[in-house]
Amino acid sequence: MSRVFNFSAGPATLPTAVLERAQAELLDWGGTGTSIMEMSHRGTHFTEVARKAEQDLRQLLTIPSDYAVLFLQGGATQQFSAVPLNLARREQKAAYVLSGSWGQKAVAEGARFAAVTVVASSEHTGFDRLPDLDLSKLHDAAYVHITSNETIAGVEYAAPPLIDDVPVVSDMSSSILSREIDVTSYGLIYAGAQKNIGPSGLTLVIVREDLLGRAQPETPAMLNYAVHAKAGSMSNTPATFAWYMAGLVFEWLLAQGGLAAVEAANQRKSDLLYAAIDASEFYSNPVREGARSRMNVPFTLATPTLDRAFLVGAEEAGLIALKGHRSVGGMRASLYNAMPIEGVEALVDYMRMFEDRYA
Ligand SMILES: *Cc1c(COP(=O)(O)O)cnc(C)c1O
Repeated sequence: MSRVFNFSAGPATLPTAVLERAQAELLDWGGTGTSIMEMSHRGTHFTEVARKAEQDLRQLLTIPSDYAVLFLQGGATQQFSAVPLNLARREQKAAYVLSGSWGQKAVAEGARFAAVTVVASSEHTGFDRLPDLDLSKLHDAAYVHITSNETIAGVEYAAPPLIDDVPVVSDMSSSILSREIDVTSYGLIYAGAQKNIGPSGLTLVIVREDLLGRAQPETPAMLNYAVHAKAGSMSNTPATFAWYMAGLVFEWLLAQGGLAAVEAANQRKSDLLYAAIDASEFYSNPVREGARSRMNVPFTLATPTLDRAFLVGAEEAGLIALKGHRSVGGMRASLYNAMPIEGVEALVDYMRMFEDRYA
C-alpha cells in the first residue's frame, strides 16, 4: 500500500519520515517498554520530550525569551474566546481585521467577552484581497486581531500590518512554520496543530509575557494563559501524543534546513500551481496577486458540472482531498510543509490532462 498525495486542509498530511519514526517508536519508546502515550506527563521521559519540542520550536521561529510558549488543547476555536478573556477588559475595544471566514468566527465568539470592533474587512469583495487598515481606528484597542492565512478564502499576509502601539494577535493555524516570521511583530500567535504542526488535539500559543496576568476575573483557569505559563502547560494532562508528534515535526523542519529552506520550498510549490491556474482558461483562482496563499489554493473549473469527474479522476491518480470547502465549492489544494513538490507536480500534470480531455 503506497501513500497518496493528500491535499486535505486539516487534519493534513504529515511528513512520511515523521510517521515512520513514530511507528518505529510506537510500542517501545526509548527502551522504556511502553509507548509515549502510556507514560506520565510529569515523568522524566515525557518532560524531556516536551522540553526538547519547545526548544526546537524556539529555534525554528527565533522566539525571544520574553515570550511564553504554551502547548494547549481546545483548538484554534477555543482561542477565539481565550484571546479576549486574557487580553481585554469586558468593556474594552478589541479590533479585528477580516480577510475571510475564520476571522468572522473569531469576531462572533470574541464579541461575547469584549467590545469587538471590525476595523477593516474585505467581505464586500468576497475576501479576494487583504483589507486596507486605517491605523487611527486602533485607538484605545486592547489588541488587533488578524488571520495570517485564511484557510478557506486562500488569502495570506506576507507580513503583518505595521502596528507599533497595539499588540497584534494572529491566528496562524494554517501558516505557522511555513515561512520565516518576526515573532516580535506580534503580541500573541496561536495555531491549531493539525495543519502544519502535527495531529489535531494540540494548540500552540506564543505570547509576550507582559500580556500575561491581565485576564478577566471570571476567566476559567483552563483558558487563562498565566495559569498555563506558570505550570509549563501541565496544569492538567496535556495532549501528550500530539505534543510528541509536534516535536518530531520540529526536528524534521530543522533537518530540512529550518524555515528559510522550508519557505523557499513552499514558494516553489505554490508558484507551480498558480502558474498552471493562470496559464489556463479552464481553471481560475479569484485572489488578487500579493494576497494569494502559499498554503491553501482554492480554484474553480470553468464548467462546475465537471467538478465530480475532476475529483473522481484525481483520486484514481492518487491525489486526494481536493474538494473545496462547502461554503465556496470548487477545489482547494492545501500545500502545507509536508506536501512534497512531487505532489504538486502530479496535481499540475493531472489538471492539464483533465483540461485537454474535457475542456
Ligand atoms: C482550521 C482553522 C481554525 C479552526 O481550528 P480548530 O483547531 O478546528 O479549532 C481556525 N482558524 C484557522 C485560520 C484555521 O485554519
